Amino acid sequence: MRILILGAPGAGKGTQATFIKEEFNIPHISTGDIFRENLRNETELGLKAKSYMNEGKLVPDDLTIELVKDRLSWEDAKNGFLLDGFPRNLNQAESLTKFLDEAGVRLDAVVDIETDKDALVKRICGRRMCKDCGASFHVEFNPPKQEGVCDHCGGELYTRDDDNEETVLKRIGVYEKETSPLIEYYDRFGIVLKIDGNRSVDEVKASIIDGLKGKNDR
Ligand code: AMP
Repeated sequence: MRILILGAPGAGKGTQATFIKEEFNIPHISTGDIFRENLRNETELGLKAKSYMNEGKLVPDDLTIELVKDRLSWEDAKNGFLLDGFPRNLNQAESLTKFLDEAGVRLDAVVDIETDKDALVKRICGRRMCKDCGASFHVEFNPPKQEGVCDHCGGELYTRDDDNEETVLKRIGVYEKETSPLIEYYDRFGIVLKIDGNRSVDEVKASIIDGLKGKNDR
């Protein structure tokens, strides 16, 4: 299956992406994760992306689109993928449509997780990520068994530089202005699966997997 996952920062895209990837056996391609890895390794791309990311802005399209096209050309993405964090504006969406058209394939579904703004800010400001495996925890809603240590791999937990209230509000603003119009864009293809993200992780997961299986059977 070829799937996109949309939702404001804190909607739970990363958490749900892990379930979708396992269910459909497809690679999870997160542009945010790719940028963060480049930042950690201090690559040229990482250095170019750093200031945009820390200010809660979008990294310029030319860098981002090339990166995604390259990643989608890998062998593991030939029969399906889950894109998380891309596209984030109309220009990126149109580039993706063109790229997929040229490859003779199309998207099967766009998962749109809709969550109230208050919940988004609370979720992001308490979020802790694992440095090694990328798993995400929350100090209040999903605490690790041992403070600061990942339950899955024992890695060190950290707070993303852009997970502070000021930057989060900016990122949500960017989402509302630049990314949310994509829901209408993809609605025209009849592939949007709207999900209420104001529920527990398990409830959201069940709705997404059921909805995607329905689209896969069509
Ligand atoms: P995320 O992990 O998806 O929240 O992304 C973290 C940051 O990476 C964003 O706030 C942007 O600065 C940058 N980023 C990730 N994906 C994109 C994209 N598709 N276009 C532009 N910037 C992006």
